[in-house]
Amino acid sequence: MIVSLRVDADPQAVKRELTALGLWIASVERGLGSGGVQFVVAPHSTGVDPAQVAQIEGVGSVSVPVPEHPQIDQQGPQVMVKGHAIGGPRPTFMCGPCSVESSEQIESIAARVAPLGVTFLRGGAFKPRSSPYNFQGHGDPALTWMREAATRHGLRVVTEVLSEHDVSAVAELADLIQIGSRNMQNFALLKRVGRAHKPVLLKRAMSATIEDWLLAAEYLLHHGASGVVLCERGIRGFDPSTRNLVDLTAVALLAHVHRLPVIVDPSHGTGRRDLILPLSKAALAAGAAGVMIETHDDPGKALSDGPQALRGDELQAVLTQLTEAAR
Ligand code: PEP
Ligand code: MN
Repeated sequence: MIVSLRVDADPQAVKRELTALGLWIASVERGLGSGGVQFVVAPHSTGVDPAQVAQIEGVGSVSVPVPEHPQIDQQGPQVMVKGHAIGGPRPTFMCGPCSVESSEQIESIAARVAPLGVTFLRGGAFKPRSSPYNFQGHGDPALTWMREAATRHGLRVVTEVLSEHDVSAVAELADLIQIGSRNMQNFALLKRVGRAHKPVLLKRAMSATIEDWLLAAEYLLHHGASGVVLCERGIRGFDPSTRNLVDLTAVALLAHVHRLPVIVDPSHGTGRRDLILPLSKAALAAGAAGVMIETHDDPGKALSDGPQALRGDELQAVLTQLTEAAR
């Protein structure tokens, strides 16, 4: 925000008023525009209505830069998915296997998670694997297995689309379309997914800034997505002790300052099942709208991400504690 003072204004008096409103003056320019002093107010300052600033004695005009991502800025903290409000009063739980391995596997997991207060069944039909030699997902049949299992147990479906070619199939069967970390800035995919006019879970790329992430969300809304839920899944850190570094600063900033719904994925964030509970609690305390957690009946036999998957009894214990903490 740029606050231009009248030539007869007392800059110190105006500065005191701005500071009292919680605004931080980043720089002072003299002799520009109308000839008076201009204060440049830092973008990380407390949000204050420019009309209020314009009322200060000595202020001539206030200009606000054109927002870079107007639609996501306006979206608000709740996204409705088939009657469920993500960002509503209760945390949203999204649980399921890393990969949909068979119709029996997804049926058994759906039956197990449904009574635990879980709203979304997660699971990948199309898997973005770092190695071409690893399991790539069963594709279209897995989508159908997952949809059928979810419907039988009153769950909604969140699943990833990897390619523009699969958007129609995924949009038809999923309630919330997931864009994975590795595709956060695949702009052709973002445009195509936007045109499906559905809500989207946008995972943060491993080294994306918050601004990159918000602009990717803006792509989706600009092209027609009905809402965007952000998902913090850990960024690349320097320490190999954990798979990634869960950026709770970003969660707090997006939830409390930008007022957007953020889901935290501590499974990919840490890569360790023993850290799921503490990180999930911390995520909800930081303002997350919910958590996404991987679970498997037999993690030792999982076709992907076994080391971070919780067994059913472990998931139940985690969700019970999270539900109590959220009361
Ligand atoms: C996933 O959720 O299945 C996944 C692959 O996650 P990410 O894109 O965060 O790595
Ligand atoms: Mn996984």
